[in-house]
This record gives sequence, structure tokens and C-alpha cells, in this order.
Amino acid sequence: MRYLGIEPIRPRVGVFSFTCCEGCVLQLANKEETLGPFLEAIQVVNFREISTEKGADYEIALVEGSISRDDEVERLRQIRDQAKVLVALGTCAVFGGVNRLKDVFSPQEANRIVYGDQSRETAPIRAVHEVVPVDLSIPGCPISKVELERIVQHVALDLPWQFPEYPVCVECKQRFTVCMFDKGQLCLGPLTRAGCDAPCPAGGLGCWGCRGPAADPNHAEFDALVARRGFSRAQVQDRLSFFGGFPTEGSEEKP
Ligand code: SF4
Ligand code: SF4
Ligand code: SF4
Repeated sequence: MRYLGIEPIRPRVGVFSFTCCEGCVLQLANKEETLGPFLEAIQVVNFREISTEKGADYEIALVEGSISRDDEVERLRQIRDQAKVLVALGTCAVFGGVNRLKDVFSPQEANRIVYGDQSRETAPIRAVHEVVPVDLSIPGCPISKVELERIVQHVALDLPWQFPEYPVCVECKQRFTVCMFDKGQLCLGPLTRAGCDAPCPAGGLGCWGCRGPAADPNHAEFDALVARRGFSRAQVQDRLSFFGGFPTEGSEEKP
């Protein structure tokens, strides 16, 4: 599409999935009112969910999913070697995501519980940045397509992108949602990076922290709040560990 008669630069993009539900790349193919312009802004050279193209000449690799097998490590390294820019797309890729729940079991135990005697290869979950360098991390389970479209616009205009630094509570209050704590529910909104527009509290569900920590979360105030509202440490830790984005007690801080 031309604006003021100037031919746009359309970066060549490859989209790749690893261990995950593929819900984040489904978001790319969703939202039909903007799908046409979105696909005009980029050249899709490899994107299994929407195209039969299997090109290897991509400049930008969008990678969703976490890494749970050795063959995935090799495939991811090949993608990294090819791409000028590698984007970790979604919470599984950025933090490991819900897949990390598997790691409360040993690989053998997880295998036995899920597959019985038909065992499969499985290793402890790694986020993409734990295997190869990542240029940009876009959190969310799933990602927000609105946010991704804004990022693409910034890239096209060569403008730096800045994620919101404030927590989900800001967007939640902008929507006039009644606080989940006032409904007796736990919510990680005070600790979690905004950018999703707080859909979970608006839908009657406390935030589970899928976007990871806000820039400077006030843990002391949050701890006092949850204690006042009668939630146990175990309940809070359980929720903090759900998407793998928050350091949990006894774990090392994640970047
Ligand atoms: S981040 Fe969520 S929606 Fe995206 S692939 Fe992982 S589980 Fe699916
Ligand atoms: S519902 Fe959650 S996100 Fe919304 S204001 Fe309350 S604590 Fe913050
Ligand atoms: S409200 Fe929390 S759990 Fe829901 S999308 Fe936003 S960050 Fe994720």
C-alpha cells in the first residue's frame, strides 16, 4: 500500500512455532478487519498457519512457544542464524509460559503421567532467550494483536518501541472495572506489566500475570494487600509461578 506515493519497505517475515498451543500466531491470523493491512505491511515467507510458503530468506523471525526438546534447540539455532531480528512472541517464548508447570515433575514422571508407557522425549522447559539471543520480547498469553500492530508500525517508521512500564491496575481502572480484591478474589494486576487492557478483571477473573512483571512493582505494598485480604503465601506463589514470568521463592531471578 502506498502512502504519499512512497513505496513502503515490507520486511520478509517467518513465523515459527515450538512447544505451545499456537494461540499467539493464531492472533496474527485473527482480527479480520486489520488482517489485510497487516499482511500488506510485511512479506510472509514462512508461516505454516496461513501460507504454504516455506521460504528461508526471512529477515525477521517471530518465534512462539518454549523449548522442550533437543531437536527444537537445533531448529531454533538455525532460525537465529538466518534472521536479522528474532522476536520472542508470547508468554511461552518469553518466559516459558504454562509449559513450565510440567517442571514441577521430573521429565520421566511427566512422561509417565501424560503418555503412560508411550514415552516421548521431553526436557525441562526453556524460554527462547535461554537458548539463543532475542532482540525483542512480546509477552502475553496470547499476545495482543493491537499491541503487535503498533510495534509493526513503529518498526516500519524506524521509531523505538516502549512497552508500558506501569501495572495492569492502571488499565483496569481506566475501564472502571470493580477491583477483584473487593470481590474476594486474588489478582496480580498490581505487579504485572500493562498493555493487555486488563481483559481478565473485566471478565471477572483476577490477573494471572501472563505479561510478567511491571517495571518497578511495589512488592511490599502487594504483600501487605494480599495479607490484609486473607490470601496465603502459597496461594500467591502458586499464581506467580503459573506463567513463569515472576521469580518465585527459592528460584533465581529471571531476566
Ligand atoms: S503464550 Fe499462551 S496463547 Fe501463546 S502459544 Fe503460549 S499458551 Fe498459547
Ligand atoms: S482488579 Fe486487579 S488489576 Fe484491577 S485494580 Fe484490582 S488489583 Fe488492579
Ligand atoms: S489481565 Fe493479567 S492475565 Fe489477563 S491478559 Fe492482562 S496480564 Fe495477562
